[in-house]
Amino acid sequence: MSTYVIVGGVAGGATAAARLRRMDEQAQIILLERGPYVSFANCGLPYHIGEVIQDREALLVSTPEKLAAEFAIDVRTEQEAIAIDRAARQVVVRDLRTAETYRLDYDKLILSPGARSVVPPVPGVDAPGVYTLRSIPDMDAIKARVDAGDVQQAVIVGGGFIGLEMAENLSHRGVAVTVVEMAPQVMTAFDFEIAAMLHRHLREKGVRLALGDGLQQIEERAPGQLTVTLASGNQIPADLVILAIGVRPESELAARADLPLGPRGHILVNEHMQTADPDIYAVGDAIQVIHPITGAATAIPLAGPANRQARIAADHITGKDSAYRGTMGTSIVKVFDLTAACTGTNSQTLEKQGIPFLSSITHSNDHVGYYPGATPQTIKLLYAPDDGKLLGAQVVGYNAVDRSIDALAVAVQAGMTVYDLEHLELAYAPPYGAAKDAVNIAGFVAANQLRGDTDLVQVQDLPRLLESPDVGILDVRTDAEWQIGHIPNAVHIPNTQLRARLNELSQDKRWVVYCAIGRRAYVMERMLKQHGYRAMNLSGGYNTYRVVTEPQSNIGQPPADDEAPIAIQLPQAANTPQKEIVAMIESETPALELNACGLQCPGPIMAVYKKMQEMQPGQTLRVVATDPGFKRDVAAWAERTGNTLLEVGQTNGHITALLRKGSTQPQVTVQEGGVLPNAKTMVVFSGDLDHALASFVIANGAAAMGKQVTMFFTFWGLNILR
Ligand code: FAD
Repeated sequence: MSTYVIVGGVAGGATAAARLRRMDEQAQIILLERGPYVSFANCGLPYHIGEVIQDREALLVSTPEKLAAEFAIDVRTEQEAIAIDRAARQVVVRDLRTAETYRLDYDKLILSPGARSVVPPVPGVDAPGVYTLRSIPDMDAIKARVDAGDVQQAVIVGGGFIGLEMAENLSHRGVAVTVVEMAPQVMTAFDFEIAAMLHRHLREKGVRLALGDGLQQIEERAPGQLTVTLASGNQIPADLVILAIGVRPESELAARADLPLGPRGHILVNEHMQTADPDIYAVGDAIQVIHPITGAATAIPLAGPANRQARIAADHITGKDSAYRGTMGTSIVKVFDLTAACTGTNSQTLEKQGIPFLSSITHSNDHVGYYPGATPQTIKLLYAPDDGKLLGAQVVGYNAVDRSIDALAVAVQAGMTVYDLEHLELAYAPPYGAAKDAVNIAGFVAANQLRGDTDLVQVQDLPRLLESPDVGILDVRTDAEWQIGHIPNAVHIPNTQLRARLNELSQDKRWVVYCAIGRRAYVMERMLKQHGYRAMNLSGGYNTYRVVTEPQSNIGQPPADDEAPIAIQLPQAANTPQKEIVAMIESETPALELNACGLQCPGPIMAVYKKMQEMQPGQTLRVVATDPGFKRDVAAWAERTGNTLLEVGQTNGHITALLRKGSTQPQVTVQEGGVLPNAKTMVVFSGDLDHALASFVIANGAAAMGKQVTMFFTFWGLNILR
């Protein structure tokens, strides 16, 4: 009968123990755990603090009693392995309740000791009210503090997975949260364009962001009241501080046993999870792994890898030729209403390792726009320039991000290319996806680039490109979109006019074409190229440009445009609360409803404009849209068109705006000489249906912006109408 001893009783340890029992009914299995609990759900800890997971017991996935009853495992809590006598094949254990030590024989030993939270060496980190989150007792301590009701403000140091999960959960508990992050972005596993979308969402949710700033010290200014000082000199008052700046492997036990460690202290193992000593295995957060994409040594502390490694170790111990394939860091995080997920590598890692790559950004809907509830989803792909092999993928959106990232994770792991993504046959019915799934679309765009059908420009390369006098930037969006915002120095010719106005574009320049998300720009890029122009397409379009160029941090600054409370002008007594005024207006005339979900800019604004035309002055309209730019666009549109935005809010990717139709629409006054400054006349003389339809689109755009539009049809134009 073999004796297996396991050190660490949570993710890796408990999994290894259960697998060993399934493979070897005769063995003696002893599970040592330093803490009071085994097999608990570390990943659920932030959600119990936030009271999303209300039942604390639900986090205890198993107990010593259950493991003993079902698996005949000898579980010993509050027992710390303090040394390994490799020659004698014994573990020295300290009973933390009695302080006595004893020795345990083993035939095989599995180490799954995990990692501990990094505590930076700055003054004040040991002050009361400063916490890390790794275990059930850590969670209990933080929750008790919040439950006591005296935590109004919290500072979270570190914008990684745990930091952001805590930001959301503390916000749920009514705590005002500031996230401090030394890097210029949160979630460094993601590229900046994707992280910037998280920044915007965090700011919208009222989280203060101090990016590119480090913790310098924490002072206790009064009992229970802390002041957090940052490297920038900014000082933030806090009742609670959470340190979430990363983890360090718990490898001291292995080091003392002379087992080799990697440069950052992780235990070195082979593909069977064996350390340098073939009778000692190691798994989980404490080990170094190989990244299958880069081939480099790395450490990726995640639950999925820990579980798979534990299974492999147990299988190998019991005679199977099981081998680990490496960790590529597939992960997902919920950040309020958004979900962000990644797999494979990111740009920074590829650059650091000198691996050539190309990238593309696509914005699609998570399911077809005509089925209710469609929300945008952004995918960034990284791929090899020669054969299109996928190197990494990042997805952010409100819904179905898990579905997309899992498809992409399988593709990356299987060594597939962007061409393979074009061919993926993914499930579709209107509530779930699209005949061209967001993942297919990402593949189409990347493959188009590799085939030379499109030249993608990344937003970060734009300033450098535009330094050259030979490069121009061309905005092909509608008038309405242009007026709401555009890239400085761009030439504006809407896509529907460009064919007719080609003579306005110099052939000597290379043109970076952009629209909102890249689709219309791609069509225009193709058209321009076939007319002999040199054209490129801004990847991700204006949506990506806008999110990366806005101020990312908002600490110590007035809120940026996007999260600024919209100034609402209401004709009621100044001291009547806002909500009551809105309720009074609505009770006079119930609001009409408009569902503009699934429409992308300028669709929602056009739909609002059309609906408002049918309404009487003073009537109200409640609009729901999922285009992320709608919140800002509707405010600008209302201001320009003489209507009133009474209320605007956002939940779960759905933006709701309440508008009241103005009693006076913008006046058109005739200036001297009979010129109408705000009027447009369009002469439609083409007999081509496309042109006639395009002229209606342009006319609508102009009318939506409050211009008086006249359309004059010539003989040929009339023919097509008939
Ligand atoms: P652990 O599960 O940490 O277990 C190690 C155990 O070993 C500890 O209980 C420790 O007390 C014990 N131990 C250490 N040394 C000794 C010793 N000498 N003697 C006896 N016992 C010892 N991962 C995800 O993939 N997704 C998530 O959403 C996610 N969320 C997380 C949220 C939080 C708050 C935390 C803390 C982690 C999260 N993780 C998540 C990471 C995931 O929990 C870890 O990657 C995983 O638990 C690692 O498993 P492990 O067995 O290596 O270590």
